[in-house]
Amino acid sequence: MNLTDGITSLPGIGSIMANKLAKLNIASVFDLLYHLPFRYEDRRLISPARGVQIGENVTVVGTLSPVKSVFTKNGKRLQTATLTDGSGTLPVIWFNQTFLSRVFTSASEVALFGKVEFFGRKPTLISPEYELVTSQDSIHLRRLVPIYPETAGLSSKWLRSKIYALLASLPLDDFLPESEGLLAWKQALYTIHFPNSLADVAVARHRLAFDELLLLQLAASLRKQQWAATQLAHSFTIDQAKVLQFLSRLPFTLTISQNQAIKDILSDLGQSRPMNRLLEGDVGSGKTIVAAVAAYLAYLNGYQTLLLAPTQILATQHNQTLSALFKPFGIDIGLVTGNSKKRIANSKIIVGTHALLSANFNNAGLVIIDEQHRFGVAQRALAASLSKAPHILTMTATPIPRTIALTMYGDLDLSTLTDMPSGRIPVKTWAIPESKRDAAYKWISSQISNLKSQIFIVCPFIEESETLTTVKAATAEFATLSQIFAGFKLGLLHGKLKAVQKDEVIAKFRAGEYHILVTTPIVEVGIDIPAASIMVVEAADRFGLAQLHQLRGRVGRGGQAAYCLLFADQITPRLQAMQTHHAGIELAEIDLKLRGPGEVYGLTQHGSPHFKVASYADLDLISQAKAAAIALLPRLDKLPVLRSLVEKDKIGLVSSN
Ligand code: ADP
Ligand code: MG
Repeated sequence: MNLTDGITSLPGIGSIMANKLAKLNIASVFDLLYHLPFRYEDRRLISPARGVQIGENVTVVGTLSPVKSVFTKNGKRLQTATLTDGSGTLPVIWFNQTFLSRVFTSASEVALFGKVEFFGRKPTLISPEYELVTSQDSIHLRRLVPIYPETAGLSSKWLRSKIYALLASLPLDDFLPESEGLLAWKQALYTIHFPNSLADVAVARHRLAFDELLLLQLAASLRKQQWAATQLAHSFTIDQAKVLQFLSRLPFTLTISQNQAIKDILSDLGQSRPMNRLLEGDVGSGKTIVAAVAAYLAYLNGYQTLLLAPTQILATQHNQTLSALFKPFGIDIGLVTGNSKKRIANSKIIVGTHALLSANFNNAGLVIIDEQHRFGVAQRALAASLSKAPHILTMTATPIPRTIALTMYGDLDLSTLTDMPSGRIPVKTWAIPESKRDAAYKWISSQISNLKSQIFIVCPFIEESETLTTVKAATAEFATLSQIFAGFKLGLLHGKLKAVQKDEVIAKFRAGEYHILVTTPIVEVGIDIPAASIMVVEAADRFGLAQLHQLRGRVGRGGQAAYCLLFADQITPRLQAMQTHHAGIELAEIDLKLRGPGEVYGLTQHGSPHFKVASYADLDLISQAKAAAIALLPRLDKLPVLRSLVEKDKIGLVSSN
């Protein structure tokens, strides 16, 4: 039997059971083995038959009298028996389980687990789980018993039996050539299902977590190798002088880390293998200009650049930014979204949403993916679809500690923008309780009157993606605010507006025709309106810190004093952190402690690897797995089990969506 074999290859599992197992995402032998308990029930304490209390769940062990089937007054079938141990006797009943007379022969030694209730005025064990006491291990009773995620017709007891049988029959020789100071594979699996103590569970989980991190990193390394082996579609020559000339026309000087990132990229672009680099940098750190330099080089070499943006709003904005930037060079920028298609035949740089992915651009020498966390697997799909690869630059503002970035995106090279453009003033941030709302609105009015401030007001985060509920909430809020700020001009922006309407609203806000833009969280990503200086967020406690930080990054981009007002019923520690911390990475670490890594890095979103056991918070284990991955990679061909596990995005210990 192989781990990759389908589940029906196991004895006693036919298509009906396979369908039920599919509901638990169990399709292979491997999946069943890794269907892990989510808790353990302690059934170790054995009660004396005479000492049991009404209402208690108890385990009793003793001799069971032959099971008798009887009919109740209303015609139901009942099985009755008596358990005897050294202390005395306890009546036992089951309902309508006639087969039990065959399970227990005369005077069986049994363990029973169930609830004691009155039945016919006597304390009675009602419908207990049972297990024969033989020389075999106890798996259902008299131990810490694993409780699994279940589905209709698939009980933990059934799963437990099957998993126990599997553990007994599979060799599970360790796929790690060295122990790494960890439990052996088979022992770890046995222990996580059938532990002797909760302390043992922790040790077993540690080994399995290591495996997940190791496999993730090995898989990434393999992808990296494969990527490096793909043929580059178009080779570039690097004209340093032209690049310097381009940079000298910018109205600002680059930061140290912008310069470093550009250096990294130029070095990649000069290679004969395709670039696959991640550019990580906090909101407002200036990633766009770095990407623009790469696009300029593609242009100098006669190739197209595709710039993918996660939303139409952002695509439109990039189109404007790049048009302004490249106009002096006579470079035409194209725009492709689901809704609009500018003539792009002559465009050397084409900005678009994922609609771009379906088009065929043979002359693309460079693909830039902005706000990568919103795209998930897009670039992998893209890479997989090409026999000849363009250079790929991926950008993200998700503040991921370097170790974690290297784990999650181990197939990418990493450049990080660690410093901010000079002259940036931190956005002054206040968490505001409901009682101070009126005062806050007055202050906002005075800011508009005196300073011509422009304001975003972001409606509560209700659902992951924009639905009618979200839109309704924003529309209602718009009506209310229009009354409160009656003397001012307000615009409304949400995802359900038509593309042209969205563009129009943003254009008007950008042109200063609206004082206030009421919006859903769709402004979170990337929007750049330099004059906006106040960000108001409703029900701020519902947002993650990364999201709030993104929203706050929308104001003060022109270098003016800027403010962020976070309305909330309760001023939580997380909102307090927003007042005192201004670096995305620090906020991420705080959120990591307060809410766990899934929330912080958007790992619940499509496309990020997620774990059964491991955690992105376990930096030490990540490092250990990293070191092991580096050592094992060259030996992978001699380690067939490990290799097959690594290659099993197919059989998925770490699934990628
Ligand atoms: P992000 O990294 O969030 O995508 P952007 O690329 O949109 O940031 O840059 C934010 C703003 O900062 C833009 O208006 C951009 O022109 C400006 N900017 C970028 N680099 C610098 C710099 N080195 N000095 C001053 N301003 C800069
Ligand atoms: Mg950006």
